[in-house]
Amino acid sequence: MFVDSHAHLDTSRFNSDRDAVIQAAFAGGVTRIVDPGCDLASSRDALALAKAYPGAIFAGVGTHPHEATTHSSEIEEQYRAMAREPEVVAIGEFGLDYFRMLTQRETQREVFCAHLRLARECDLPCIIHVRDAHDDVMELLRAHGQGLRGVFHCFSGTIAQAEECLEFEGFLLSFAGPLTREGNELPEVARRAPLERLLVETDSPYLVPKPLKARRNEPLFVKQTAAKLAEVRGLTLEEVAQATSANAERLFRLPRNAANDA
Ligand SMILES: [Zn+2]
Repeated sequence: MFVDSHAHLDTSRFNSDRDAVIQAAFAGGVTRIVDPGCDLASSRDALALAKAYPGAIFAGVGTHPHEATTHSSEIEEQYRAMAREPEVVAIGEFGLDYFRMLTQRETQREVFCAHLRLARECDLPCIIHVRDAHDDVMELLRAHGQGLRGVFHCFSGTIAQAEECLEFEGFLLSFAGPLTREGNELPEVARRAPLERLLVETDSPYLVPKPLKARRNEPLFVKQTAAKLAEVRGLTLEEVAQATSANAERLFRLPRNAANDA
């Protein structure tokens, strides 16, 4: 049984066949999916989806760094209200993205800190997006994130950066499709990190894992990344599924899934 800890099922790329994609995931052993919001509208959509699939889909609420200019205290108020719903299990995704830099640095940093405060206030884990901004994320977490928990989603950094991330005790690393690709340090990161600090995700509809050739990623394909994780750690797929599912349950405080006890 797998948990896809990060899938944007609410996006329009699933409009024509969303339920079929979700049913395929369930049939393939993906028992729980976390759908993080990227702005107010997608956070609402993620929550609606979570309510439509109780106990199986859960939502995050937050503003992605690409959308950081749209963030406001009014939107934060909406997130705060949504966070009281039991289906909302995280604040995010939010973070810093200096690769595309769709929003200037200072605004991104302010919005990042606003989400940390919200996560603390709501006692929810953070789903953090980092791209070309590792040092700033570390700096802001050290200053404002003490005691928080969360996940560095789609971790794509170096061994040294992973070690720094893991110094934040409540935080996990989540691997997506890049773990299955060549030319990065991720297999070594995955080998060294404590198993109880790891999650798997798809980041659907993006980042199709190798060797799949699909044009769109979907939660079922989380097994491909889990298989790579099993390979580099010398574990069985079942052991990786069991460990990463338990980690996701603990981080997001997911209710126990009946199918998981089988
Ligand atoms: Zn994402």
